[in-house]
Amino acid sequence: MSDNDHVVIVGAGQAGGDLAANLREKAFSGRITLIGDEDSYPYSRPPLSKAYLLGNKIRSDLLVRSDEMYGRFDIDVKLGTRVKSIDRQRKRITFGESEHLDYDALVLATGGSPRTYPDERLNSSSNVFYMRALDQVERLRPHLTSGTRLTVIGGGYIGLEVAAVARTLGVAVTVIEREQRLLARVTSPVMSSFFDRIHREEGVALHTGRSVSGFDFSPDRELSRVVLDDGTIIETDVCLIGIGLQPNTALAEAAGVEVNDGIIVDSLLQTSDPSIFAVGDVARYPCSESGGTRRLESIPNSTEQARALAQTLVGNPAPYNAIPWFWSDQYELKLQVVGLISPSDAVVVRGDPQHDRSISVFYIRNDEVRAADVVSNPREFAMARKLVTKRAVVDPAKLGDASFPLKDLLPVVNSSFSVGGMPAYHH
Ligand code: NAP
Repeated sequence: MSDNDHVVIVGAGQAGGDLAANLREKAFSGRITLIGDEDSYPYSRPPLSKAYLLGNKIRSDLLVRSDEMYGRFDIDVKLGTRVKSIDRQRKRITFGESEHLDYDALVLATGGSPRTYPDERLNSSSNVFYMRALDQVERLRPHLTSGTRLTVIGGGYIGLEVAAVARTLGVAVTVIEREQRLLARVTSPVMSSFFDRIHREEGVALHTGRSVSGFDFSPDRELSRVVLDDGTIIETDVCLIGIGLQPNTALAEAAGVEVNDGIIVDSLLQTSDPSIFAVGDVARYPCSESGGTRRLESIPNSTEQARALAQTLVGNPAPYNAIPWFWSDQYELKLQVVGLISPSDAVVVRGDPQHDRSISVFYIRNDEVRAADVVSNPREFAMARKLVTKRAVVDPAKLGDASFPLKDLLPVVNSSFSVGGMPAYHH
């Protein structure tokens, strides 16, 4: 990109906000426009289902960068603005009534939207909530008072983090998950049963392997009861739906950019149109960790892709090839995850998942440590990251022996993979 070029970023979430800032930090002196349909400057979403819902953070704590930075960095921010179309021939986007902007590089950081439950009456009830944006959390929060009955549909990260916050606030919580186990999409059966036990110990009523067969509504159209396929009736004051995320690909698709459950990009995050790039939850990239392509819904993925793309756009091509990592806070527990698991991995457990509240689970593929889930043991997580990064070959008996120091298992050889960045998030 040259000094006269214009980078337009559509989507003012974590990835879009980080990219705009990173471009300036890497001395890009051309024009930058950042467009978002929410009214807030880019903010981090992880606290929404954790500290922000609990009331331990305020709006300004969530900002990706301070709002004055955008002026200081001469980044033109258009909030509350929805981009309507992309004209790839003219390299032009349209928005508002009949406004348009021409770009030299267009970056789609459009993220995703909560998958909605296919029931119109449910979605229009004033006591039913989804969780993706600040205003949704702010509307849910006043409902979470002691003694209220919350029904959570979906036992993924959103559902379980909200369940934990709600229990902490004295709310009576029921979670319904249609898979046979919690967190089925993201972790192993041993971790699922660990979190199953923790939530039951905390007083959550769990229904796994169950579907909703019907809803009842009060005369004023509030959801009052959820009926399960085994006939169980759950009296409900408030309902949170966390049944997954759908990538926001419509804009790209309408413009003829290649899309398949995400916007398809190469390792430089370039789409099928060489002037258009995609980053964050919406980008489906070639993932050497799992083979094939992958879309990752996580903050580290967004921030690291933004960093890599900024570098590429200023002329130092930086292929994106980081080992994924995540975290989740539930009650006093902090789950930290590195790497991607495969169903055929051998599983090695440190600690007792039936009784302990801090355990580690390692995933071994072709004798190499390829992923780890560590609960409430940051020091062990630091070691686990190194084992995964180096694809260490270890003695499973020693790995599974909680009294054997993990650092003594670290090999001396280096690997070409890196866990990129690891920014210091506080949550
Ligand atoms: P998720 O992780 O995909 O979990 C949703 C769960 O709900 C899945 O197990 C899904 O099962 C289940 N489900 C779907 N339809 C259902 C139904 N009708 N009844 C009962 N269960 C149903 O998605 P999420 O928890 O909604 O989170 C949304 C996004 O935010 C994800 O990208 C997530 O990773 C991200 N997030 C991350 C964190 C974190 O990293 N700590 C925290 C919060 C949110 P199927 O697989 O069968 O559809």
